[in-house]
Amino acid sequence: MSRINLKSAATLREPAELVAGGFAPAADLGDLEKVAARYAIAVTPDIAALIDANDPDDPIARQFIPRREELAAQPGESADPIGDHAHSPVAGIVHRYPDRVLFKLVHVCAVYCRFCFRREMVGPGKATALSDGAYRDALDYVRAHPEIWEVILTGGDPLMLSPRRLVEIMTDIAAIDHVRIIRIHTRVPVADPVRISAEMIAALRVEGATTWVALHANHARELTGKARAACAAMIDAGIPMVSQSVLLRGVNDNAAALEALMRAFVECRIKPYYLHHGDLAPGTAHLRTTLAQGRQLMRGLRGRLSGLCQPEYVLDIPGGHGKAPVGPNYLSHAETFSSANSFLEEPEPETRYRVVDYCGDVHLYPPKP
Ligand code: SF4
Repeated sequence: MSRINLKSAATLREPAELVAGGFAPAADLGDLEKVAARYAIAVTPDIAALIDANDPDDPIARQFIPRREELAAQPGESADPIGDHAHSPVAGIVHRYPDRVLFKLVHVCAVYCRFCFRREMVGPGKATALSDGAYRDALDYVRAHPEIWEVILTGGDPLMLSPRRLVEIMTDIAAIDHVRIIRIHTRVPVADPVRISAEMIAALRVEGATTWVALHANHARELTGKARAACAAMIDAGIPMVSQSVLLRGVNDNAAALEALMRAFVECRIKPYYLHHGDLAPGTAHLRTTLAQGRQLMRGLRGRLSGLCQPEYVLDIPGGHGKAPVGPNYLSHAETFSSANSFLEEPEPETRYRVVDYCGDVHLYPPKP
């Protein structure tokens, strides 16, 4: 499983390179060396080109350029913030929900996000991928569990594998009768779009299973012309796409930024899927919002964007308890009344609710006669 193509030689991986490129102040070099000793760094040329080095609050830089704040882990943060380990029956597999598994093939990414929830598990210094033996054991686990309908390839970033290796993996998984969906979580189309070659796209389509691709992007500027072309090539080849984003302080924690991002996804034929609340990964508190801020933003989006552009705001409950939708509530109990439905033989108690519309006005449902 070592067929990983890390060929982007111009990718910035050292704090000194970031300082030389003007992406980090020279005065921070010592602290950034300490960050680099703990967490992986990679900024591809495509991402570097998006950063305005003169803007200390640049939303792209905040996602990829390390900061000294990462050295200060906060109470409650954890090396395994969403509890993968608690649901890992064999190496590489996380089986949290009955009908689907995560299959963590590789432990490297094209870029390393400073808020990564698997930051303790990915990057140079860790194993780059599952061993061949662990890969076979993981496949055997999926084969032995007929309730698994969907396999989610994640990592790391599965599109760091060569197309040739991906063909083998997709074929192995699709050959399992009960697996009907293979979902691939990736940041490559925005971080290194040249990897989305015709050969790569061909590798993603396989007999016996339907492939979906979930694109991780957090700011509309990431959807460059090259990124859009890479996504369009996948979609034109028959691969449906959804989005995943993380709500991040100073990146997209305002209605205008989220609106632009969601509109950009839909314009690219990518259905907005999840907006994740920031996980309690070590050293990421400076990038997290509060849940209250997230809920307020989601309430604002309801009035600004069509339903097609609405993501679901979700929290991965620490400890491995899965995702919960945590967006605002629009419904609350108003009163119980006796139903006047003439089709009922006996009157039945019914609930009248308060429903909040997109302007914040409250209405009763059903309305009072
Ligand atoms: S691409 Fe995903 S796995 Fe890789 S660093 Fe970013 S969040 Fe983590």
